[in-house]
Amino acid sequence: MNPNKNGYFWPTPEQELLLKAALLKGEDAIAAWRGWAAAVDFDSLDAGSQRLLPLLYRNLAEHDVRHQALNVYKGFYRITWYRNRLLYHRITSVLSLLGSKGISAVLLKGAALAPLYYKDWALRPMDDFDLLVQTGDALKTVDLLCLSGWSPAFSIPDESDLATRHACTLIDASGVEFDLHWRVMAESGRNDADDDLRKNTRVIDFGGVSVQVLSHTDQLFHVLVHGARWNAVAPLRWVPDSIMILREAGLKIDWHRLLNEARSRCLVISLKKTVTYLHEVFAASVPEDIIYSLGRMRPSPAERMEFWMNGRPRGLVRDMVYLWFKHARTSGVTGFMRLMFGFPSFLGRFWRVPDDKGLAGFLIRRLVKRISSDPGKVSGSGRASLSDGYSARASAKGMLLRFRNKLLSASGLTARQVRTDGKESWRSFSIADGRIVPPYSCEINAVDHCNIACIDCNHASPGAGKAIASPSAVFKDLSLLSRHYKAYALKVVGGEPLLHPDLLSLLRAVRESNICEYISLVTNGTLLRQMADEIWAELDEVELSIYPATRPMLESYLPYFQKSAARHRVKLVISPYEEFRITFSTIGTADAGLTGRIYRNCRLANLWGCQSVHQGYFFKCPKCIYIPRMLDGPRRYDYREDGLKITDSPDFLHKLAEYLSSQEPLSACRYCLGSSGKNRPHRQVKASEWADIHARPVKELVDYDKLMWD
Ligand code: SF4
Ligand code: SF4
Repeated sequence: MNPNKNGYFWPTPEQELLLKAALLKGEDAIAAWRGWAAAVDFDSLDAGSQRLLPLLYRNLAEHDVRHQALNVYKGFYRITWYRNRLLYHRITSVLSLLGSKGISAVLLKGAALAPLYYKDWALRPMDDFDLLVQTGDALKTVDLLCLSGWSPAFSIPDESDLATRHACTLIDASGVEFDLHWRVMAESGRNDADDDLRKNTRVIDFGGVSVQVLSHTDQLFHVLVHGARWNAVAPLRWVPDSIMILREAGLKIDWHRLLNEARSRCLVISLKKTVTYLHEVFAASVPEDIIYSLGRMRPSPAERMEFWMNGRPRGLVRDMVYLWFKHARTSGVTGFMRLMFGFPSFLGRFWRVPDDKGLAGFLIRRLVKRISSDPGKVSGSGRASLSDGYSARASAKGMLLRFRNKLLSASGLTARQVRTDGKESWRSFSIADGRIVPPYSCEINAVDHCNIACIDCNHASPGAGKAIASPSAVFKDLSLLSRHYKAYALKVVGGEPLLHPDLLSLLRAVRESNICEYISLVTNGTLLRQMADEIWAELDEVELSIYPATRPMLESYLPYFQKSAARHRVKLVISPYEEFRITFSTIGTADAGLTGRIYRNCRLANLWGCQSVHQGYFFKCPKCIYIPRMLDGPRRYDYREDGLKITDSPDFLHKLAEYLSSQEPLSACRYCLGSSGKNRPHRQVKASEWADIHARPVKELVDYDKLMWD
């Protein structure tokens, strides 16, 4: 046979050898193992293949193979046992909890397959576990679990999720994940689609707790359908899972029911391809009449397209096609036009966009976000770890800038504009509806001081002294500014903004000023656990900066933060920083050429648009507010000379555009590295030492490679 290898879930030739070595018997297994070992570089073995090593170890050991490589495979066998046993205890505790509240659950996937068919907890690696509850019990189960240390990995499910999705992911403080299903599989469609599967479950004893599992036939069906789709980690496990089910319960499989399930769910092609592959490559015992019937089945073009799409990595277009099929399955509507008509409403419910009018804007934001994220970072679980976030963020930034530049170029507002003197620079704003629009956000400083002291704090907080923004003054400044200026987002920064004694009033002042559509709080997280619910409710986003010194504490609180963010529908952005750019020099430079280059290359002022409002003045960067405070005696000057007074004069828009476009460095630029300072590892310092640390000449601190433009 020449199985269809177009879908990425099919094993590569090397992976197929490994599967044979782990599953076949006798010389076939040993020959396959030798072929595989010669063909692969074990040190760079893919994650999907690594999952098969426990099974490989057991099979080779049973064949009395003696080779030092078995010691390595045995290590995988042992670690799998250890991890699975930890998961096993979490599963029993969840089952007991659900049982105590009268919620019955069905154990799905690995947690059921390992004890029932592999008969050995060391053979079937699991990253998480899966439980199915009745759709009507799903939301109360989530509530119950949230009270017991679990939190949704993304957002708390609601009624719209019950209609449009099949499961949600929960995590606990130790990072264990489990998928709570209200439908067996993504293809289950309407709520009653799984009635047959639920009716045929059986009860087993699982560590002293009774739990239901799918029938042998439905286990096989689930494994085959679930396996037949692309995954970032090669989803090879469907092969051994199916073989183990067939070995253990082959005679009890109701093949005709299996075929009927596939027909009624429009999943014939998944079944046909996978069963045929198992039969022809692994000599799985499948009745001949079933092979014959499968061969005669003719899946519809739509089914073929869905199968083709599921077998490939998702992207912008495939996401929409995937959602189209999901809509077709869950809506119960037939006919292309009727489906088309209901699609926007489905998308709105799937993404929880409050109204149809907001869908277009949401889709554009999603498109921008998608393009700006690194497609290479697609992860199996979709949940980024702290360190993932760091690298993803770094690579995403470059893409975002490129995309933004393209957008601006397309609209005539070039990010790199040619100045009258023929030289290029960036552009930090556009104009829409008679108002200046920054690239993304504007900032206010809730307080100037901070409870920690980072060596290269952009806002000079360790040396800035204590100051608290007045909500009424902020409202006055922002509402006046909003007549000529509109930011998509406003970032409430500091210092540490959670040190503000009346942060709630400050946030409400921002909201009421009409300066932005979105409020983000940028915090070091050390006080985030104490943040009141009312403040969470007032925010759209919390950006959590994580430094090496705060990482251990914040990692332990992360599940709590995620839970709070999910409860209040706040986006939690995790921003780990391992290093900072050097920011300031209190010695400064008298070299006007160098100052000019630093300014022209300053991304804060010219590209990122880190525009800031402070005490009645508008500033093109936040640093210029704080720099004069760091200077002694005669060098000190009034920071307001670097800003623009916010007024309601008719020419304010013109003045603001001129201020933002100016090619003249600010006074502060003489003491600033802009975005061109050398990188150094992040560390905490004593506030009393902070000024001395920055007492070095600018020319020693500049990373000249970052000065792209003269
Ligand atoms: S956490 Fe660090 S970088 Fe942030 S304001 Fe405080 S001192 Fe500055
Ligand atoms: S002071 Fe000058 S160089 Fe520094 S961030 Fe502001 S504009 Fe850029």
